Amino acid sequence: MLHAGLVATEIASFRDEDEPCLVLVSLACPSCLSSDIDWQLLDTEDDPSVRCECRGCGNTRTVYLTQGQALRLALQEPWPLDLIPRAPALL
Ligand SMILES: [Zn+2]
Repeated sequence: MLHAGLVATEIASFRDEDEPCLVLVSLACPSCLSSDIDWQLLDTEDDPSVRCECRGCGNTRTVYLTQGQALRLALQEPWPLDLIPRAPALL
């Protein structure tokens, strides 16, 4: 359980090959559980992370990524993450 004022280190839980909908769900807002978030990949070589801002409640947080997850999001960046499952060939 998170307490206000404490900075918790959050680590993304999606797998590198997950579909966009699963990636999005793993980045969903922990406060209101909304998956309607703005995300931005923070491009640092040592500590890749993604900054997530909830469009519902405004919760802003940084989620840390593995190198593979960062690559996954970098490849995703031109397209919106949404909840529609797609066949991998269509990604
Ligand atoms: Zn929220």
